[in-house]
Amino acid sequence: MRQARRVRAVELLDRLAAQHPDAHIELLYETPLDLLVATILSAQCTDQRVNQVTRELFRLCRTPADYLALGAAELEELIRPTGFFRQKTAAILGACMAIMERFDGRVPESTAELDSLPGVGRKTAAVVASNAFGRREGIAVDTHVGRVSRRLRLTRQSDPDKVERVLMTLYPRERWLEVTDVLIFHGRRVCFARRPRCGDCSVVDDCPSALPVDRR
Ligand code: SF4
Repeated sequence: MRQARRVRAVELLDRLAAQHPDAHIELLYETPLDLLVATILSAQCTDQRVNQVTRELFRLCRTPADYLALGAAELEELIRPTGFFRQKTAAILGACMAIMERFDGRVPESTAELDSLPGVGRKTAAVVASNAFGRREGIAVDTHVGRVSRRLRLTRQSDPDKVERVLMTLYPRERWLEVTDVLIFHGRRVCFARRPRCGDCSVVDDCPSALPVDRR
């Protein structure tokens, strides 16, 4: 039974990956610190808007010390368009302070160490560890990954940490980053939250949540 679930899950991923061969993280970054900051900014905000904001931000700030020198007031103004700018400013400055104090100014590589930074949650830690350092220690589960996983009945869990644990049992470690990239692409382009485009979905024949034919 468990093996059958894994086989089905891998088949679904293969077919979705074929539909989205260019699936990749859409946040722009050059360094691990850039990606950490961009991922914090992406909460409740589109990647396009984050990329607009970070164009200027990354020109000004290349190191954790640069963010701390910039200070809260100026950082808040720069990131205001991404929303929740006070909380995000506190998270960025808290993380930068901890990186300076505990990691000698270098962004740590492991998901556990990243997760230990103030203002950095499990999802952000997994995004940075997997994309910036090539570590396969977890699967980043955002709103799209969670929704698509539930619609495909890969899981019935709603808590992101529980969804992640299920996905980690279904997929081989070397595909964990691909799971995130492909499911996010599918959620953004086809399996919309409000009105999924089931008629354009490559796995419609194996989706328990597919809309009836006359509503696609
Ligand atoms: S068939 Fe519809 S609900 Fe199912 S994964 Fe595809 S787009 Fe989403």
